[in-house]
Amino acid sequence: EPLIKIQHVSKRYRNTNALRDISLEIPRGTIFGLIGPNGAGKTTLLRILAALLTPSDGQVWFEQQEVTRAPAIIQRKVGYMPDFFGVYPDLTSAEYLEFYAGIHGIPRQKRAGIVNDLLELVELSSKRDAMVETLSRGMKQRLCLARALVHDPEILILDEPASGLDPRARVELRELVRTLQGMGKTVLISSHILLELAEMCTDIAILQNGELIIAGDVEKVIRQL
Ligand code: ADP
Ligand code: ADP
Repeated sequence: EPLIKIQHVSKRYRNTNALRDISLEIPRGTIFGLIGPNGAGKTTLLRILAALLTPSDGQVWFEQQEVTRAPAIIQRKVGYMPDFFGVYPDLTSAEYLEFYAGIHGIPRQKRAGIVNDLLELVELSSKRDAMVETLSRGMKQRLCLARALVHDPEILILDEPASGLDPRARVELRELVRTLQGMGKTVLISSHILLELAEMCTDIAILQNGELIIAGDVEKVIRQL
C-alpha cells in the first residue's frame, strides 16, 4: 500500500494546462525525485501534494485520506519547502525556527528543545545566534529545511532544494536527505537536472509539459531513457 496515491490529477490555470491526467504512487520511505524542465508542472504537483493548491480534476490520497477533504490534517503530515528564498525577517536562526514552531502551535516550553535539535540536525548549531540574512545560501537552505521539519512531519516536500548551491552544499543536502530517510520520513524532491537527483533518490518520475513521461525505481527508469 503506497503512502501517497495520485489519481488522474489535472490542474488548469487560466490558459495553461499545468498538469494533465497524472497518476502516480509514492511508496512510504522513499526518496522520490520529480524531474522536469522549468514549466513542466513540478511546483504545481508538489503544492497539490502539500494541500496548498487544489487540483482541477482527480484526487490525491494519503492512505485513507483524500487531500482536499482534510487539508489541515495533510498539512500537519507534510513539511513543505518552497523553491524561492523569501525576504528574511530580522531574526537569528534560533528565533526564526522558534517563530515557525509558534505558528505550528507548538507550546512555548517545548520550542527551545525542538529548535536546538533541528539546528543540530541541519548542522547550524554554531549559527544559532547569527542573523539569518548573514548565512550563506547553503546554510539558508538548511535553515529552511529545518523550518519545514518544525512540526515533525512524516513527509517532507522539497522544491528545487539544490538550485543555486555549490557542490559541497549539494553533498551536505544529499546527506541530510538520507539522514531524514533514515529517520523514517518519506522525502519528495524536485529538480530540473536528472543527475542532481539520480544519485540521491530511490525512485524518480519525469514530468514534461504537464505530463508524466515515466516513473519508478531510479535504476529502472534510467535504463529506459
Ligand atoms: P515547474 O515547477 O516545473 O517549473 P510550475 O508548476 O511552476 O512548473 O508551472 C507549470 C506551468 O503552469 C507553467 O507554464 C507556469 O507558467 C504555469 N503556472 C504556474 N503557476 C501559475 C499560476 N498561478 N497562474 C498561471 N499559470 C501558472
Ligand atoms: P518554478 O521555479 O517552479 O518554475 P515559478 O518561479 O515559475 O516556479 O513560480 C513561482 C510562483 O509564481 C508560484 O507560486 C507559481 O504558482 C506562480 N506562477 C508561475 N507562473 C505563473 C504564471 N504564468 N502566472 C501567474 N503565476 C505564476
